[in-house]
Amino acid sequence: MNNYNWPVYCRIEKGLLGSITDTILNQFCNKKFIIVSDEFVFNKYACIIKKQLDEKDIKNDVFLIDNSSYENALKIGEKALSEEYDAIIGIGGGKVNDTCKYAAFISKKEFYTIPTTIANDGVCSPIAVLKMKDGFTKSIGTKLPTAIFVDIDIIKDSPTELIKAGIGDILSNYTAIYDWRLASKLGKENSNDFALLLSDMAFNMINNMQKGEKIKEDNFITQLSEAVVLSGIAMNIAGTSRPCSGSEHLFSHTIDRLYNKGNLHGYQVALGAIVSAYLQNRDYQMLINLLKRYNINVSPDNLKLNYEEFIDCWMHAKESRKNRYTILNEIEDEELNTKLKEIYNIIKGEI
Ligand SMILES: [Zn+2]
Repeated sequence: MNNYNWPVYCRIEKGLLGSITDTILNQFCNKKFIIVSDEFVFNKYACIIKKQLDEKDIKNDVFLIDNSSYENALKIGEKALSEEYDAIIGIGGGKVNDTCKYAAFISKKEFYTIPTTIANDGVCSPIAVLKMKDGFTKSIGTKLPTAIFVDIDIIKDSPTELIKAGIGDILSNYTAIYDWRLASKLGKENSNDFALLLSDMAFNMINNMQKGEKIKEDNFITQLSEAVVLSGIAMNIAGTSRPCSGSEHLFSHTIDRLYNKGNLHGYQVALGAIVSAYLQNRDYQMLINLLKRYNINVSPDNLKLNYEEFIDCWMHAKESRKNRYTILNEIEDEELNTKLKEIYNIIKGEI
């Protein structure tokens, strides 16, 4: 039987920040904390947590980071172990979250995450994306946070572009699910129906939103936050990112590997999902409409990809993860080239 390591606490609410310290102290009975953040977020939000702990005479230390390097994660993990901290409290975006996830994993400490952005589905995923010494990033398996505190007001205050990127990453579930099912049907690997169900639910939560819903409305932020948590749980059940990462993610990884355009991950995978849906003979128009509804422009032009680069990234996408069977393995190069040209022109005319 699988032994899942799920978060034991998850709150997605407005005005949560003020009560997080009390919740942590009452719920988890820990006495010594490392607070991890970046300088900006510390001055805006994390200082409130620190002040509350100080007022209660609870031992805490602050570790500020400016990147999600493997080295930082090791340092925090080592500090947590050698100085016998009970838990790590991470307040920040994806970089803080990923660093803390790995630090908590290697030190076997509890990790409480307070995300300040929802720009991808990494909030609650069992994967940490860390920068290695050679400058390249690596996705490393970790465990999920022990507790998740999403304050709707904090996410609402984050840049709109980051929320749009979060939508893009959830949208990619649509094509990732197909790719994993395809691999499973052909006997290439086992899929997991419950993981697929959660991934599909996350996608439907966003796709089925009321047409007039605005990105910065409480309900929308709540649904998006719940969707990223569900996606993270889906990946945890699967033991792999496959329920939320298929050929559209291979395309995005290839852009990063070959051209490094500095786009938000969610934008790149959303463009990838439109193309993958076209290659899968599925409803790519639904994805275009969804993106248009929220004014999310993922055209190659907007992602600084010219036609040659767009084609090149797709033609080399399979090489990103050779053991990941997707729709790209089903199409010969010549046919792929033709189809890419077709969808490129469709996207150019539509977005
Ligand atoms: Zn992703």
